Amino acid sequence: MYQTTALYQLQTTDSKLDSIRKRLKEIDGLLSENEVLQAAVQARDNAEETLRNWKTRQKDLDFERQQLKEEAKTSEERLYSGRIHNPRELGDLQNKLAELNRRIEDLEDPVIEAMLEIEEATESVSTTQADLDRITEEFADQFAELTTEREQLLSQHDKKMSEAEQQRVLIEAPNLRLYDSLRKRPGGIAVATLNANAECSVCGVQVTSSLNQQVRRGEVTPCPTCGRILYRA
Ligand SMILES: [Zn+2]
Repeated sequence: MYQTTALYQLQTTDSKLDSIRKRLKEIDGLLSENEVLQAAVQARDNAEETLRNWKTRQKDLDFERQQLKEEAKTSEERLYSGRIHNPRELGDLQNKLAELNRRIEDLEDPVIEAMLEIEEATESVSTTQADLDRITEEFADQFAELTTEREQLLSQHDKKMSEAEQQRVLIEAPNLRLYDSLRKRPGGIAVATLNANAECSVCGVQVTSSLNQQVRRGEVTPCPTCGRILYRA
């Protein structure tokens, strides 16, 4: 086998390995990043907290109203008990009762507000919970798919790694050193192919016909422009 053919085969395997590694990296990113899910949990928690706060507010208002009503009832009973004759005391009691009734009335708007807010917050809790359930389900499906793909890629990766090892054995040391140093360039392409017009697949430059012949004979020939090892099938 020509050295160039062996180098080309190794390049094919290494390029496949590159794309497997790239996809594995993407998958690991996707599996660890669940921002959408976290946002949905946050939205549901916020809605629940709002609901809790308004329920507490409603309870406080009810308690306050209940106390005022009891106080008013006591004052009213005293006022009409017939036991108080002092006009000044009667007048004070009447004023107190009026004050209490006014405070009870003042509580009406806040009580209605709390009721409406509780309705709205309850609705919001159920909407955000439904969103969260849907996203959790989607994420579980995606998670399962990605995990399967990851396992397949890992086994492909092992297979290609041993393929590459076997291919490297066929390549002479200086050629392998050249190959490995070219592989370190961005894109990882060490072996470029020449098309029917003798153009390099990496830089696109046409090589001279004598160089083309050299490549055809399987001699290890770097592209004069980009330096890649040239190969012609
Ligand atoms: Zn080139």
